[in-house]
This record gives sequence, structure tokens and C-alpha cells, in this order.
Amino acid sequence: MTNKELADLIFPNVTHDVDYYEKKYPERNLKDGAVVSRFAPSPTGFVHMGSLLSAFIESFIPKITDGIFYLRIEDTDGKRTVENGISGIIKDLKDFDIRIDEGMISETESIGEYGPYIQSKRKDIYETYAKKLISDGLAYPCFCTEKDLEIMREKQEHKKTRIGYYGNWAKCRNLTNEERAEKIKNGEKFIIRLKSPGKFENKIILNDLVRGKIEMPENDIDVVLIKGDGLPIYHFAHVIDDHLMKTTHVLRGEEWISSYPIHTQLFNLLRFKEPKYGHLGLVMKIDETGARRKLSKRKDPEAAVSYYHEKGIPIEAVKLYLLTIANSNFEVWLDANPTSSIYDFKFDFKKMSDSGSLFDIEKLLNISKNYISKLSAKEVYQNLLNYTKEYDKDFYYLIKKYEDYTINILNIEREQKKPRKDYASYGDIKTHIWYMYDELFNSDKYDFQKITDKDEINLILKTYIDKYYNENDNKDEWFNKIKKLCDELNYASNMKDYKENPENYKGNIADVSTVIRVSLTTKSMTPDLYEIMKLLGKDRILKRTKIN
Ligand code: GLU
Repeated sequence: MTNKELADLIFPNVTHDVDYYEKKYPERNLKDGAVVSRFAPSPTGFVHMGSLLSAFIESFIPKITDGIFYLRIEDTDGKRTVENGISGIIKDLKDFDIRIDEGMISETESIGEYGPYIQSKRKDIYETYAKKLISDGLAYPCFCTEKDLEIMREKQEHKKTRIGYYGNWAKCRNLTNEERAEKIKNGEKFIIRLKSPGKFENKIILNDLVRGKIEMPENDIDVVLIKGDGLPIYHFAHVIDDHLMKTTHVLRGEEWISSYPIHTQLFNLLRFKEPKYGHLGLVMKIDETGARRKLSKRKDPEAAVSYYHEKGIPIEAVKLYLLTIANSNFEVWLDANPTSSIYDFKFDFKKMSDSGSLFDIEKLLNISKNYISKLSAKEVYQNLLNYTKEYDKDFYYLIKKYEDYTINILNIEREQKKPRKDYASYGDIKTHIWYMYDELFNSDKYDFQKITDKDEINLILKTYIDKYYNENDNKDEWFNKIKKLCDELNYASNMKDYKENPENYKGNIADVSTVIRVSLTTKSMTPDLYEIMKLLGKDRILKRTKIN
């Protein structure tokens, strides 16, 4: 029996040959140097921060090279599939403004000419190539049961030899085609394995974009190509899909490095052009105990991409942060080119960390503070509206009602050379400005500091309002009035005098301003008090300085 006859027996329903698919998916018509890359998650329903970093880089490079970025769903492993798992991934990517040129756009639909972009719909394609490998004598059906494989493993362990289905251990490799046909006709269950021509003693080299040259033994394992359920395993699907979808750069997690010998072998045997590979390090964090560990979906809320959306951390800031951890020279570049688009940055794979990127939420929040501080008050207002509309409806209605007032509040110490950097996220803003709204002002929790005596507080406030406060004062006049108030009540209006002879005074000008500040805002720390008072206006000031 010829190999071809065996292949026909195994795949009687495969009607196309490989030429059909080679023609169906022609070379892409892109300019030289254009990168075609993909994000290829299982449909698990969400994107983890580590995968977001990959997805971002995978989309970044095509964008700066006029290439193509596509989303392929790898659902051949039922265990990793959840219901509506594609939608969650699409939402997370969209929330991060990571746009795809091709691929899945919902649970069932896709855009692009190189699909289907979901592996479970590509069964006929995998079968066609598996059939070709069988015809060429490069693959065969394997009838070993779980039990057979277990016994093999035990023997290998006992003999202290390398574990795996290879060489003489590969029992089904040496069956004759007649024996194979017989078993198939008898209804024995089988899977399809590669007949690996490799030798473990030989070396192959991976030219990794991130890590440089890596030497590994050649693959000699007869790996599974098609499982019992008829679907391919990762290795086979990866090679077929990335070939037919014309991927030029496979960027994926470092856990795949050790599988590269299988992949390069498959690319050779199928006579496909091999893409470039870049294996990205894990995203790590330093935990409470000081240990370095993988960022974990279970333990770290910041590992879920939805976290940033819910907190209102601007995606632009997260992108800046991702580039910071992705490329060691990005920060320096950004400092030198603060107004350039990030897409002008020359990304360099060699500047990626091969030992994993350390994820530091504090640093991300600082980048975010910096980013928000540079926006105009109107931009912050608009973003705050978008955020609160989804996450804080009451506040949304309030800031919508007082649009100009809110923009003015957001403008305190903004739109200047050194803007204030209070807000790390849009979710944060309310905690900084709520006291500006009578609807939210709550005088239950004053944070008086040094001066806490009720009578003294009232004396300061009453004297200030009755004798010194004038809503029309400019900043200098306003400040001089507070100094005068201090002089009158025997507080040092000059810090130097106070430091020299503290015993001569009841306190100093900072203590007095704090009393005014706290009465108006309940907080002892706020942005510029003069600006705040200007915005609050006379009525509110008169009301709030009457403390019982
Ligand atoms: N589905 C694989 C994973 O989830 C993709 C690996 C790759 O990008 O090739 O890790």
C-alpha cells in the first residue's frame, strides 16, 4: 500500500490539495520591510498584562512599518476556552486602542482575506497539510493508547533515558501501511504524528530577535500533529497558520523557545519560508516579600487589563509605560522628544529585556500623573466625563451640570510650565476635587492640624472674614491680608522670624492658612488656596467659614 493510498484512507473527505490553499492565500502585497504580526490568544475571555505587552508590541511594529497586525484565536485546546471568550479579548484590545487590520471582530465574525482567523474553523486546512505529509511519508497514524504511552514513559524513566516518542521508542513509526490500514478498518482510534527525520545529536540555531543566537538540539520527537478530536496541536497549527497568513514576525512568550526545534523542522519539511521569531520575557513583579515573581492574574489586580479601564488610567499612559518596559531606551527618547508621537520611536528588539520585564504599578501611575498633567483642562474634563459616565453616574451629572466651573477647577495649576501632578487616573480626580461642589461638601471630617481649639479656629476665621477677606483681591493682596491677620492674632507672618523665636508666637502663617484651607475644603493639603477661593466664590466662603 502506498503512502498516498494510506493518506486517502485516513482523510477520505479532504477534497482540496495544498496547492489550492497556497493559491487561495497569495503573498501579501506590502512594501519592503513591512511586518506582518499577530496576537494569537486562546479564547480565555480576558487579556493579561503580560499578553497586553505582547499584543502592544505585535501591533506596534506593523504600525511603524506599514504592515499588518491581526488577531487569530487559538481554540484547539478546549480546556482554555470559555464561553464568549473572544468578546472579552476584543473588548480589552479595544479599550487599549490596539486596533487590528484583520482577524476576529466578534465571537463569529472576522475581517480580512486570510481567514478563517479561528483555528476550530480551519480543520480542513490542517487535514489537507497532514494528508500531504502522510503522502510524502513524513507523518503517520499512531494507535498507541494512554496506557501504552505511560508504559513507555515508565520504561524510559527506569532506563534513565530521554522521555518522549522518538526513534525506536516510537512504536507506530515502523508499522507497515498494510498494518496501519488494517487497524483503521478495525476502528482503532488514532492520532497523526510527525515522522521526525531529526537527530538529537545535531544542533540547530534559533536567531532570536530579542535574545540573539540560541543553540538547541534538533527535534527527533514524533510530535503529535492532529489529536484524537481531529484538531491540530499548537505546533502544527502555528506553522500552517503563520505560513498561510503570511506572518513575517512571530512574537510570542519565552515559554515557546524550547518548541522552536519542532517548528523549524516543520517549516523545512513543508517547504515553507520561516518567519522571524522574537521570544518575549515574562512580565514580573516584586511582591511584598521582595521576591521577583510572575505577575499573576489571581494575586494581582493590576494583571487584568480591565483594571486600568475601571480605574480610569489613560491608555496613552499605559502605552508609554509598556514601551518603557519593552525598550530600555524609550524613556530617554521620550525625554528628548516629548511632543513626538510614540510611533516615531525606533523600536529595537535587541533592547528588550530577555529576563522579563519588571512591572511596577507605582511607576505606571507616575507616568500617568505626568501624562494627565500635560493635558488641557478641557481635555481632562472630556476624559473625566467619559470615565464617570461609565463608572460614576452621580459625579457625571454633577460635572455636566457645572461644566465651566469644573473646567476651571481642573485648570488650577494646569496649563503652565510646571503643572501640578495630582491625578494618576480619572477615577482619582473626584477624591481631589469633591469639596468644590456643595452637593458633595461634607464638613464632618475636618482635617485640622496644629490649631485644633474650636474657639481659636473661630477667632481666626471670623477675624479673617470680618476684617480681611475681599473677593476682589489679587493674589498679592490676598496674601498680604493673611499676613496682617497673623500679625493681629500674634501668629508669625514670616517663617524666618518664627523659626528664630517660636516662643514669641501662638504659631505661624502656615498654621493660620491651614485653618482657612481646612474650613473651606476639609483638607489640610490642596492645590493653590487663592485659586480655590476664587472659584468657590464669596457665598460659599462665608458659609463654610462659619464653623460650629
Ligand atoms: N496561543 C498561544 C498562546 O496562548 C500563542 C502563542 C503564539 O503567539 O504563537 O500562548
